[in-house]
Amino acid sequence: MYLKSIEIYGFKSFANKIIFKFNNGITGIVGPNGSGKSNVGDAVRWVLGEQSAKQLRGSKMEDVIFSGTELRKPQGSAYVAITLDNSDHSLPIDYNEVTVARRVYRSGESEYLINGVVSRLKDVNSLFFDTGIGKEGYSIIGQGQIERILSGKPEERRELFDEAAGIVKYKKNKAATEKSLENERANLSRVKDILGELE
Ligand code: ATP
Repeated sequence: MYLKSIEIYGFKSFANKIIFKFNNGITGIVGPNGSGKSNVGDAVRWVLGEQSAKQLRGSKMEDVIFSGTELRKPQGSAYVAITLDNSDHSLPIDYNEVTVARRVYRSGESEYLINGVVSRLKDVNSLFFDTGIGKEGYSIIGQGQIERILSGKPEERRELFDEAAGIVKYKKNKAATEKSLENERANLSRVKDILGELE
């Protein structure tokens, strides 16, 4: 699996539609200060489900939408799509190519799409569990992150190892099952109470 392209339209400094295509090997994005290099990383983090405006260096989510310049009107929406080669089927989806997209409007309305199909954030998260690609994954290392990892709490570091070891999906499934069990126990106890009242 590898990242084939990133399409950005109306996100942060990218008022026009732009497509970055990646080939095998290493690609560097260079440019003067403030030209938008870090915004490309923010775009990837955002499409993968980042919910915190602060993590995207803004104060509110609307800040990801191109806010206009002296010469250009602001955009009404932001759109980012990443396309991954999945011919090795590392992602649990039956396609050789996977495009994950996210769009947000100034009204706050937003949607995720997986290969063009409207999806939930939960679906996007499950797609990337244990691949290192999710927004918390180790494949996106932001400025200052190495230091944060090294000086962070052991539990936070453990999360990175869990992801690399491929056990996050089992942990999530376990947590979901435990929650259903808890709900069922509560239901059972209510049924017992009602039965007790009827007797
Ligand atoms: P450096 O090399 O200094 O780290 P950089 O190339 O990584 O810079 P970014 O931080 O990616 O640059 O981009 C900053 C630019 O993005 C600023 O000029 C800022 O005005 C612009 N920008 C951020 N959000 C928006 C937005 N919503 N609308 C328009 N421009 C924006």
